[in-house]
Amino acid sequence: MCIALLMLQPKFIVCDEPVSALDVSIQAQILNLMMDLQDSMGIAYMFITHNLSVVKHISDDIGVMYLGQLVEKCSSEELFSNPCHPYTQALLSAIPIAKSDAKRERIILKGEITSPIEPKPGCRFAARCNYATEECRQAVPLREISEGHFVACTRYTP
Ligand code: SF4
Repeated sequence: MCIALLMLQPKFIVCDEPVSALDVSIQAQILNLMMDLQDSMGIAYMFITHNLSVVKHISDDIGVMYLGQLVEKCSSEELFSNPCHPYTQALLSAIPIAKSDAKRERIILKGEITSPIEPKPGCRFAARCNYATEECRQAVPLREISEGHFVACTRYTP
């Protein structure tokens, strides 16, 4: 993070993959520094990353995106304990487990990724989803399924 930027005393910073090219031990130092700065300066971060371990470490609230659409949004604690969108579930199943004897069923996605250039109407994850139905070909809005937990999936229609 640029020191000159901090001199402007920002309240909001967008961080796009800020630690992805760093060694793991340096990543931890940078993340801890960012969290210290957040506490001392009251900064809010929008943190964009593919690294779910980093997401878990640093986030209060998480938005999961698939092909440019927000498919799930809730607190970090809720997302990691109760992931609801099938894409989120597949993502979390891919996080490496530290213990060699620990078991987690990995969800392997099949099918083709929809073209982001001219995506078909409806859920953009449908071509890879085990639960897809005809209903998923229509617009699938983000809905609040419990307090503060939003999901865009026909499996959670009220
Ligand atoms: S809306 Fe349908 S295709 Fe999309 S994630 Fe939900 S069940 Fe799967």
